[in-house]
Amino acid sequence: MSGTGGMADASTRRQELAERLGAVRERIAVACAAAGRTDAPGLIVVTKFFPASDVRLLSGLGVRDVGENRDQEAAAKAAETADLDLLWHFIGQLQSNKARSVIRYAAAVHSVDRLSVAQALAKAAGTDAERRSGAGLPPRPALRCFIQVSLDPDAGAGGRGGAAASEVPEIAARLAGTQGLQLEGVMAVAPLGADPLAAFQRLAGISADLRADHPGASAISAGMSGDLEAAIQAGATHLRVGSDVLGPRPPVR
Ligand SMILES: *Cc1c(COP(=O)(O)O)cnc(C)c1O
Repeated sequence: MSGTGGMADASTRRQELAERLGAVRERIAVACAAAGRTDAPGLIVVTKFFPASDVRLLSGLGVRDVGENRDQEAAAKAAETADLDLLWHFIGQLQSNKARSVIRYAAAVHSVDRLSVAQALAKAAGTDAERRSGAGLPPRPALRCFIQVSLDPDAGAGGRGGAAASEVPEIAARLAGTQGLQLEGVMAVAPLGADPLAAFQRLAGISADLRADHPGASAISAGMSGDLEAAIQAGATHLRVGSDVLGPRPPVR
């Protein structure tokens, strides 16, 4: 079938994405009804490993929020789709030295998992604001920051899966006290093999504690393809769904 033209391929892919996206939206609606929720959570479509052409098709299907977990891949796709009205969510582990790059294209970072990352983002936001003002550019909207917490009771503090609940107040204070950053709320991934509902209910408790100090930081980023129903039941405000919209990811590179 080579050489028969990308147009047919694009329309097939568009159809496939439309169907998958429709099915996920339906699942969200059903889960909201079951949970008695009238405030539907926002859907972030995670496009990691898939080409910018898919991002473009998704935009045409009404998707505005897209998620990526690697800086290089995200920066390239954001540049390729700069003509579209998209909000990029960085959801992967963030190295401090990538903060300056991420701040240029991301509307939100869901993976602030330690104080050093909050500090790197604060510094990057300051440098970027100075550069923009020097160049006569308008300031950017504040970068929306989620604190990623670990819901794995076996993981020690400083593990790769997020901050310990006890570390949240210090990270939150740093984010909330920085111009150019906005403390949005918490984020987590359900631990493998655990009951996702119980895990997300723990997250809801951590969110309530955070809101006691920071009433505006009410966002809860939780729920992926396999556990979005549990996340909705536990009060998630942002879902991050990849494979159920895009299809199975190619094997890890
Ligand atoms: C990849 C990824 C997702 C999406 O996962 P799916 O199972 O494909 O829906 C969500 N959150 C994070 C942090 C991810 O890395």
